[in-house]
Amino acid sequence: MRLAFVLPGVRREEITPPLVCPYEDCQAVRLRLHQRVAKYLNDTVYPEVTAHRYHCLTCGRTFRVYPKGVSNAQTSLRVKRVAVILYLLGLSYGETAVALQALGVYVSKSQVYYSVQELMKRVPSLSRRTVLHRVCPPGPDGDPASEKPSGEWPLLRLTVDDAGGTALTVTGIPEEDAGTLKARLALIAEAVGATLSVSDGVDELERVARSAGARVPRSAGARVADSLDV
Ligand SMILES: [Zn+2]
Repeated sequence: MRLAFVLPGVRREEITPPLVCPYEDCQAVRLRLHQRVAKYLNDTVYPEVTAHRYHCLTCGRTFRVYPKGVSNAQTSLRVKRVAVILYLLGLSYGETAVALQALGVYVSKSQVYYSVQELMKRVPSLSRRTVLHRVCPPGPDGDPASEKPSGEWPLLRLTVDDAGGTALTVTGIPEEDAGTLKARLALIAEAVGATLSVSDGVDELERVARSAGARVPRSAGARVADSLDV
């Protein structure tokens, strides 16, 4: 069985102009784009994006507006969401950081913790499912597919296409778990704003991306042990 969580990407060209000054004691509408500033980003694709700095002509204060998928935090929203999904699939905070590193994203254990807490505040009813148990990083050539399969080790992959969408896929989960698992995972997907697709192992996302003429420039993977305890 193959799971795919498809997440909104970072749209670095899309910055929605603010309508009012964000300071609560002001809220005035006379705003001026003051300057464009670079922001370093911890993301799967963009190491840097441009933010717009606005000047409020009423209170005189300035504030920044970020592209879609970026906040004032250093880590992009999609990276935070992938971290939360991996944790909710059963990895510990530390193992989530290890899995992300194997996927080419550097997030500390405490950043994983804070991302999870942020979501739990909004959706307190969410609980973890033990789908993944521990991480076996890819071999020296970086390709997890070249490793010899050892028992039930589902493959974890992070794929980004030209349209900016990001997919976290887990392949090789035993079919007998499919029914109950799907309903439970749908709750996780909804909470993080992802679309979930569950299929019988064909890599539909890559096939669709190719047939639409899009490149799949980045694909990294890590093997993840399955505890079979669902
Ligand atoms: Zn103001």
